[in-house]
Amino acid sequence: MKNDVRQVWDDCLVVIRENVSEQSFKTWFEPIIPFKLINKRLIIQVPSQFFYEWLEDHYVKVLRKALDAAIGKDGQLEYTIIIDRGSQPKPQNAPAAPAAAGPKPAEFKPIKSPFDIKPFKDQAFESFLNNSYTFENYVEGDCNRLARAASYAVAQKPSTTSFNPLMIYGGVGLGKTHLVQAIGNFIVNNSDNFRNVLYVSSEKFTSQFINAIRENSLQDFMAFYMQVDVLILDDVQFLSGKEKTQETFFHIFNHLHQSGKQIVMTSDRPPRELSGMEDRLLSRFKWGLTADIQAPDLETRIAIIHNKVEEENATMESEVVEYLAHCIDSNVRELEGVVISLLADASLTKRTIDLDMAKHRIKSLVEENQKVISIDNIIETVTDYFKIKITDIKGKTRLREVVVPRQIAMFLAKEYTSLSLKAIGYHFGGRDHSTVIHAIQTINDLMDIDKELKSQIDNLKEKFKKK
Ligand code: ADP
Ligand code: MG
Repeated sequence: MKNDVRQVWDDCLVVIRENVSEQSFKTWFEPIIPFKLINKRLIIQVPSQFFYEWLEDHYVKVLRKALDAAIGKDGQLEYTIIIDRGSQPKPQNAPAAPAAAGPKPAEFKPIKSPFDIKPFKDQAFESFLNNSYTFENYVEGDCNRLARAASYAVAQKPSTTSFNPLMIYGGVGLGKTHLVQAIGNFIVNNSDNFRNVLYVSSEKFTSQFINAIRENSLQDFMAFYMQVDVLILDDVQFLSGKEKTQETFFHIFNHLHQSGKQIVMTSDRPPRELSGMEDRLLSRFKWGLTADIQAPDLETRIAIIHNKVEEENATMESEVVEYLAHCIDSNVRELEGVVISLLADASLTKRTIDLDMAKHRIKSLVEENQKVISIDNIIETVTDYFKIKITDIKGKTRLREVVVPRQIAMFLAKEYTSLSLKAIGYHFGGRDHSTVIHAIQTINDLMDIDKELKSQIDNLKEKFKKK
């Protein structure tokens, strides 16, 4: 009986099932309720506005095919959106039959949080912020002035500034996480309208997304993120090359942005250098403001040390402070680490920190850094970074994708190890020392003119620092 809505929808499902994966079928088609059939107009009920958009974006062809088979070429499809939680009706984007005539709105299950906590409907929204990161304890300097000012503006008026999204970028340990967490903490403490503030690293976001697929709970995952008022996504460079995760983030992003929610992101490099990122996502990043954080200058470093010492209720001679600020110039995290370990030493041994202690600490830090960097380590790190094989870097290939990393690895081997040129050549499949000299020379020259290469090398050096 062709006029029975259930029957027509079942016919559609047969076609759909043949054309989409099992997973997509479960996620996107099983939840649909056939609602009404008026002549050749099939009206289906979907759980949310987002769900409708997703279907239209991804499955319009399949749906057409299904309608052709079930109703005929002149079959039409319309959507109606299930009213969530019995509260206000959502806007309906297709003419639908009046609700009174239709089936009762389906009961909405509470959304399961991907953070593995109880459905947040029953409890206060958990922000995953560390409340020790505030604007008060963030030292301002030329290196971070714009980023800090923009962050502060966003914190005071989320989503009403033109800084939406706000994207903060800069090298490792320069205070990106601190700053974006300060935004979150400020909003949590001061805003009544933006209650659901969420901090999440891109790494965690990705693993939650993968879990959601595995557990067939993508809808919950989406619904969870779509209820956030201020989404702080840290280290988006981690999404590079992860197409599906990016696509999902793209939809969440659009939804939040359209609903007047604030989005804040960080990255270790400027958006234009984020390779493996979809263009449509990159173009979204440019809608708001992109602000960088540079390595702090000497005065800022001194101020940061003073702050830290004060926070710990301790004291430190200014000559020691200056000495430390001179020695560690590129990474605030490392600077803090040294200050804290010195303070701990001093309190354990009940001594005041003098210059000798500081020198000793810096010396052992340098030694620690050097000790672990072996040539194998370098080769492994470089091949991993460029996603090439160790056998290739040691092999004969002249492909550019391999030649440049090979030269970079030789260059770093010279810089970080005490091996002779001959020995370095030996580790790269028995190349001779003139090849190694040529490689080092090439990289040295290129670094002055090729920004991308320069930043790749900086990134690699950071990796060695962390080891
Ligand atoms: P990133 O996320 O850029 O790698 P973090 O935000 O984790 O860096 O910062 C590393 C450490 O340095 C944190 O403990 C942070 O509090 C501190 N820090 C960085 N910049 C500043 C600053 N301008 N003022 C005070 N502390 C800072
Ligand atoms: Mg960080």
